[in-house]
Amino acid sequence: MLWHAGYRYRLNVKDMPGKPDIYLPKYHAAIQVNGCLWHGHNCPQFVLPKTRTEFWKNKIKSNVERDLKNIATLHDKGFRLLVIWECALRGKARLDNRYIFSLFVRWLSSTEALANLDKQGLTSRTLHDFKYQINPSLNKF
Ligand SMILES: [Zn+2]
Repeated sequence: MLWHAGYRYRLNVKDMPGKPDIYLPKYHAAIQVNGCLWHGHNCPQFVLPKTRTEFWKNKIKSNVERDLKNIATLHDKGFRLLVIWECALRGKARLDNRYIFSLFVRWLSSTEALANLDKQGLTSRTLHDFKYQINPSLNKF
């Protein structure tokens, strides 16, 4: 969809913090697609495995800490970042692809540096906000 709409981008950019899935050089903007389990999203698709729960909890917590560090570094370097969550793309509550694309275009043409796209739609974020979208069950045990 991006390509057909005329956007030019690079995929899996290894020389950027967090190796974003998509980078649009013209806009200085990156897109990261996050799996809800692996990145600890606060949504119904996040369910800690019933076995080796402590192991998974620690694993996911370290993913989340790394994510937050990468988001901060990207932000410091002047890149924009849109995080698209798996629950927006897959599952019962997924959003229509054209709707997702329209939200992406809206964000790209805005001045928002950081934003989140999940089944709630597009939300502008500050660095601080990103810390509070983490699934609370990661802090329970
Ligand atoms: Zn999710």
